[in-house]
Amino acid sequence: MKWEGRRQSRNVEDRRRPAGGFRGLPPGMRFPTGGRFGRGGVAPLGGGLGIIALVVIALIFGIDPSALLNGGGIGVEQTSAPGPSSSTPASPREEELKQFVAVVLADTEDAWHAAFSESGRTYQEPRLVLFSDAVQSACGYAQSAVGPFYCPADRKVYIDLAFLDEMGGRLGAGGDFAQAYVVAHEVGHHVQTLLGISARVREARERVSEEESNALSVRLELQADCFAGVWAYRTERAKQVLEDGDIDEALNAAAAVGDDRLQRRSRGYVVPESFTHGTSEQRARWFRQGLSSGRIGACDTFSAPSL
Ligand SMILES: [Zn+2]
Repeated sequence: MKWEGRRQSRNVEDRRRPAGGFRGLPPGMRFPTGGRFGRGGVAPLGGGLGIIALVVIALIFGIDPSALLNGGGIGVEQTSAPGPSSSTPASPREEELKQFVAVVLADTEDAWHAAFSESGRTYQEPRLVLFSDAVQSACGYAQSAVGPFYCPADRKVYIDLAFLDEMGGRLGAGGDFAQAYVVAHEVGHHVQTLLGISARVREARERVSEEESNALSVRLELQADCFAGVWAYRTERAKQVLEDGDIDEALNAAAAVGDDRLQRRSRGYVVPESFTHGTSEQRARWFRQGLSSGRIGACDTFSAPSL
């Protein structure tokens, strides 16, 4: 993706540890194989307070708290190991990644301002918080092991740059456009919030069985993937920023975080009723669906007879 020298969003809020280089993950902690890309799940915490926070957040998001507490595919191992000291010099790679994220966020602002105004609406830009290791959001306390997420309560996207940096290695989803897809997916949840879709889904999920609730979550997540595709279409049309292989990187990343692939990797088998984000094939397909037209209306995953 061509991004150097382009406009960077002013909506980036940097809450990383001062002067921290890439810390990587503390020993004993690994990235989750579930809970990724932001429905607001959090890592199970060790203490009682953490569990309370977890339950509160799970209630806000309509997630069954026990699913989080017993692992539920989140797969986080706890550690109390401290990160490196704050005297670690700033890593040029992390600074570059920060600038890249700010450019992608600016692209989402341009794309969604245009898409909203075409339908007579006004787009309100989200903030994007960069953090290290753990962060306090209006949706509760979250550790970076849950992956990037969006919090509707404060309308902010939360990202630990270490996650983006390690996507290629840990998820087999390398490339800058794979990273851009992650940012665009989270902004997709913001768009759903502005359109009132998230609130309606949240209400609906409270009235149905766990299995039906999961099915609604899948449709919400696939729509965020489709919105990421809408962003890619509009950004390319307006700015011609794509390079060879970019679309494949995004499709590959969408497939890499499919429930089936992650479950097969973590448990060796899949439980379709427990899917909350969709299969690899579905995630790639809905990204492509948004990409093919650039229209919000093309992303009605809730009316689609099949996903
Ligand atoms: Zn999501």
